[in-house]
Amino acid sequence: MLLGAHVSITGGVYRAPERGRKLTCDCIQIFSKNQMQWKTKPLADADAARFGEESKKHDIIESVIHDSYLINLASPDDALLTKSREAFVDEMRRAKLLGVRYLIFHPGAHVGSGVQAGIRTIADSMNWARNEFGSLDVTPLLEITAGQGSVLGHSFEQLAKMIDLLEDQKGAGVCFDTCHAYAAGYDVRTPKGYERTFDMFDDVIGLDRLKAMHINDSKGKLGSRLDRHEQIGKGYIGVDGFRNLMNDERFRDVPMVLETPGGEKEYARELELLRSLVRIS
Ligand SMILES: [Zn+2]
Ligand SMILES: [Zn+2]
Repeated sequence: MLLGAHVSITGGVYRAPERGRKLTCDCIQIFSKNQMQWKTKPLADADAARFGEESKKHDIIESVIHDSYLINLASPDDALLTKSREAFVDEMRRAKLLGVRYLIFHPGAHVGSGVQAGIRTIADSMNWARNEFGSLDVTPLLEITAGQGSVLGHSFEQLAKMIDLLEDQKGAGVCFDTCHAYAAGYDVRTPKGYERTFDMFDDVIGLDRLKAMHINDSKGKLGSRLDRHEQIGKGYIGVDGFRNLMNDERFRDVPMVLETPGGEKEYARELELLRSLVRIS
């Protein structure tokens, strides 16, 4: 399996690969900039090149980017929507410069405008961004959400609808977050539930769209709609739940990253635990 974690870019984006390697990551997720700021200075070409060199040097097989938490591609507020769309395209440009092919994002929150209007706005935003960006080098991945508040993308049907509305449907994939999916009501804990969940995913979205995963245990119960990550084995999904995933050959080459609350202090231990669940055949 391709296992890793979300690592910090403190000190420069090119510092992330070494940080990841120290934690035994084979893949990493990063923010391409301070995720709590709308505007930051452009990424220098030299820094981007160094990121590629460092990734190679430290055997980081794949890196994915998570976009800024400020972006809401479903916003009913025109000013905020425009700002979000522009920031999203900036994220795509940064990803391209870094040689990263997947940009993971939370689809958005409708904030009162309603589910259908929100889904429509997300698809419009993605279409706009695709045209503005004008390249196929970066694929946005819609992340499944826990469904808290007016957040969209907490069902396979909603994600499929967003993709259906795209002008270029090849240009989008999905990031499966185990905590979010579990909180949204998809059982991945029992072998039977696990099998049913991914059968449904395949029917509704298509497993070929699943390009990345967030490996998090859940502080919330099945269907709780709580977006609260827990360390692997300490939440409701539990070690047995992750055993299903660690032995699923279909996801062998899918980058899987931790976003658990212990952070960089705990990641190496959690990765070791996950690797120990792989059955030797
Ligand atoms: Zn996530
Ligand atoms: Zn989350």
